[in-house]
Amino acid sequence: MATQQPVLIAGGGPVGCIAALALARQGIPVHLFEAEARVNDSPRAATTHAATLEMLEELGLVDEVIRRGLIEPKFRIWDRASREVIAELDFGRLASDTRFPYVVQCEQHKLANMTLERLRSLAHVTIDFSTRVTALAQSDDRVDATVEDAAGARKISGCYLIGADGGRSTVRKALDIPFEGYTHPERFLVLTTPFSFDAEYAQCSRNYFSDPDEWCALFKVTGDDGNGLWRVLFPTRIEETDARALDEAAVQGRLQKFFPKTGPYPVVHRNLYNVHQRVAASFGRGRVFLAGDSAHVNNPLGGLGLNFGIHDAVELSTLLGRVLRQEAPATILEQYDRFRRPLNVEYVQQQTIANKKRLEEKDPALRAQSNAALRRTAADPPAHRAYLLRASLIDSVRKRAATA
Ligand SMILES: Cc1cc2nc3c(=O)[nH]c(=O)nc-3n(C[C@H](O)[C@H](O)[C@H](O)COP(=O)(O)OP(=O)(O)OC[C@H]3O[C@@H](n4cnc5c(N)ncnc54)[C@H](O)[C@@H]3O)c2cc1C
Repeated sequence: MATQQPVLIAGGGPVGCIAALALARQGIPVHLFEAEARVNDSPRAATTHAATLEMLEELGLVDEVIRRGLIEPKFRIWDRASREVIAELDFGRLASDTRFPYVVQCEQHKLANMTLERLRSLAHVTIDFSTRVTALAQSDDRVDATVEDAAGARKISGCYLIGADGGRSTVRKALDIPFEGYTHPERFLVLTTPFSFDAEYAQCSRNYFSDPDEWCALFKVTGDDGNGLWRVLFPTRIEETDARALDEAAVQGRLQKFFPKTGPYPVVHRNLYNVHQRVAASFGRGRVFLAGDSAHVNNPLGGLGLNFGIHDAVELSTLLGRVLRQEAPATILEQYDRFRRPLNVEYVQQQTIANKKRLEEKDPALRAQSNAALRRTAADPPAHRAYLLRASLIDSVRKRAATA
């Protein structure tokens, strides 16, 4: 397929990179544009679920993801005030469902960078950093993208274009596709510290703390040097300004209230994120498709957004490959929007909204009910497994396969 026009990809985040690799491995020429000079390494996704690990295995990436991350079979939901574990869920119960009965905590910039490294060795892949897609036009047989770099603007043609350009997607806006849903009033504050919580939490690197006043979450990642970093996630108060939330005294106060210790916490990153629950009204139009955060955004509780975005990239690349090899008519591309949009609503939006609600519930009776339900789920093997099949996105992959 070397003579064919390339598939253009806007965005060199993890989803754009995975889409590029999934296409390139089929021999399809790819031209990827990333607006920034390098991969964004701010602390965002790390949790990689079983269904995604299976896809990364197909792409030849899983061994490196496991080597550079850490394997975690469990997660715990705590009551923050009493420090009691409400429930411990164990992906080990999925041993007969997946080759990967655990999550791997591997930071998303590592995944993007290892994917780019493989892409750079392929002659039919072109990667332009510091190059922004600013406009597009499409006709019956091609897409023309306007891209801008330090030298100015130019037009590039491709057979299809994938907008993997994140939540503020230029591609989605160019297609005039509404981003339906809402934005949470609070922001999420992520504080990263090399202080080791191992003494208290070594047995489990994914912890959620339910609390009516200030829920929080604690995760371990390996960090770039492999020595380990802990991320503590808090919601801000609605009236709290960015400056106030990021202020050193406020940061130390939050951490000390969560886990009192002698002396201040070393804090290597402090990041604030706006949090949305939004899904694009359509995942594509004509020869242009949306994948990853450009198509859907959600709160990070459950670690689902990027995982689902990787599934988008793999599915779209498979469909495009079949069309470009003329194994199937172009009409099969309609399946992408038809199936992935409702799957996102059912498996990502619903779960992440429920996860947040459970952690922040203020009504004592509803909190007690929800905690009791969680305890029952954890104690009942079939219910425990069913919960995890959904939480790991295995259910969403199975549902999609059943419609094929
Ligand atoms: C605190 C936090 C924790 C999270 N944890 C998890 C988790 O554990 N598991 C999980 O699955 N998800 C998680 N997520 C969600 C995850 O980070 C996102 O879903 C993921 O970044 C989406 O990847 P993407 O490639 O679609 O978009 P992005 O990562 O946003 O990448 C988009 C890229 O496109 C580039 N770009 C933008 N506009 C243009 C343009 N016009 N032209 C060219 N390039 C452009 C940007 O520079 C960027 O590099 C978390 C999010 C947050 C905030």
